[in-house]
Amino acid sequence: MTNELKRYYSDLRDKNYRLWQKRVAECEAKEPRFRALNEEPGRVMQQAAAGKLSYAAAKSRLGQIEAERRNLLISMGLKSDYLDMIYTCTVCRDTGVDGKTGKPCACALKKEQEMMLSASRINDRETFANFNESIYPNNEQKKQGLGMKRFCERYVAALPRPEKPNMLILGQSGLGKSFFGNAIAYAAIDKGVRTLKATAYQCIQNVLNALESREDALKTYLSAELLILDDLGTEPMVPNITVETIFRILNERAAALLPTVLISNLDREGLFERYGERVASRMMDGALTSIVILRGDNLRTRTR
Ligand SMILES: [Zn+2]
Repeated sequence: MTNELKRYYSDLRDKNYRLWQKRVAECEAKEPRFRALNEEPGRVMQQAAAGKLSYAAAKSRLGQIEAERRNLLISMGLKSDYLDMIYTCTVCRDTGVDGKTGKPCACALKKEQEMMLSASRINDRETFANFNESIYPNNEQKKQGLGMKRFCERYVAALPRPEKPNMLILGQSGLGKSFFGNAIAYAAIDKGVRTLKATAYQCIQNVLNALESREDALKTYLSAELLILDDLGTEPMVPNITVETIFRILNERAAALLPTVLISNLDREGLFERYGERVASRMMDGALTSIVILRGDNLRTRTR
């Protein structure tokens, strides 16, 4: 579980505990008998522990207290479970772990997806479901767009282990590259693949700005089950950092068989020029990478 998720559950438990305390105080103020009922179980347990009360007698007494509490609540027009501990998720009792299986609770997986979506700026507009072929200015480009959509959907279907783990999407701006990057990320998260989508700019800035260690900042990029790195070529070129960082990401992810999608406005020559032979040939390694080059007219400058 990530620290962010742990904090979420600890905040959630605090919030529900405070809500419960408020209910207890409210009931005690309205009906003084509640105070005695709330204190009584502790006394019964102590007596049982000290051997002054048999286990069966203690159990029966606790049952009586519980019944009286519930009846009292109902007589006040409240639900009988009004003073039970409050849990947002009754399966994991707001721990994120399903006590029966010891596995992450469904609510934790859902929360983690939400967190990934907001952290990665993955949006719910640019999705395969919202793909609109009418934006293409001509049949050729429409055919290319539809082919690209099918290709990307097959890639997502094969996640987390597509035959070729990497995709390199090239083409000038305004051809929908980022749309497909987002759609892949959105669909991948939907099928439970831990996905990180970032621009190369954000990635390098994160590494440069890392407060504690660059290694930790890089770890997120190295360990995501699927990484989508958009706008490759717009990141700051810092000697000994930019090229090395991108090389490490490519290398270590390939070694761990983790899929990576790279998106760039640069063409093949541009990639060689900017990143050098060693990195560019890694990006274009045909054994690991499907290279897709989008061509045509800019979709954004078209009049609607
Ligand atoms: Zn849960």
